[in-house]
Amino acid sequence: MGSFVNVCLARLPLQYADEKRRSRLLTSPETPPFLKKHIRDQSLSLSKPARSFCFSCGHQLRWFENIPVLSYLLSSGRCRKCNAAIGIKSIWTETIHGLVYLVFGWFLNGWILPLAISINFSFLWILGNCWNCQQLRKVLSFAGAILLSLNLGVYFY
Ligand SMILES: [Zn+2]
Repeated sequence: MGSFVNVCLARLPLQYADEKRRSRLLTSPETPPFLKKHIRDQSLSLSKPARSFCFSCGHQLRWFENIPVLSYLLSSGRCRKCNAAIGIKSIWTETIHGLVYLVFGWFLNGWILPLAISINFSFLWILGNCWNCQQLRKVLSFAGAILLSLNLGVYFY
């Protein structure tokens, strides 16, 4: 889940970038060409996901570069191809998620309640990290409403 949340944090703000941010990214010399292509083609959609890749050089990650926490530690937090830093935020997200899911799973009864609470945690994590992206905030609010009704379902279960 931590890994999935990282994918959301990296891609959703690009997928739901408003016109201004999109054109800024597309004209900026700092944005690598392959990423511009992704933004233009809108190929970072979560419903039709591209395989995991380095956001600096576009290198497609092999399975052993895609293991949560472990791969980060083994490659010292850098892309194996271009040596760009992956960023401490991604391993932080993965570690905290691992711990939170573990703690809830350990201390709460059954599996439905801990799973529901953990998913809420993940959702809030994404919402908090994407709060500045206005368009995405709207989409997330809608997803939050669905999640809330699922919560009520679990509560009355
Ligand atoms: Zn790279």
